[in-house]
Amino acid sequence: MAVQQSKVSKMRVRIRHAANRYRGVEPTNCSSCGAPCLPHRVCKACGMYGNRQVLNTGSRQG
Ligand SMILES: [Zn+2]
Repeated sequence: MAVQQSKVSKMRVRIRHAANRYRGVEPTNCSSCGAPCLPHRVCKACGMYGNRQVLNTGSRQG
């Protein structure tokens, strides 16, 4: 049976968890128009989702 050699302190655990804590949704820029938008959402500026046009906007035809 494996035996731990020394106890990891609460402080050490918290430092470890702080390194990969959730920092919220990372802001990204649209790949087609470059406007700031959220990932996995339709771009409000150009109406593109991935490489599909899903919203009709005045800036682009369709
Ligand atoms: Zn866009």
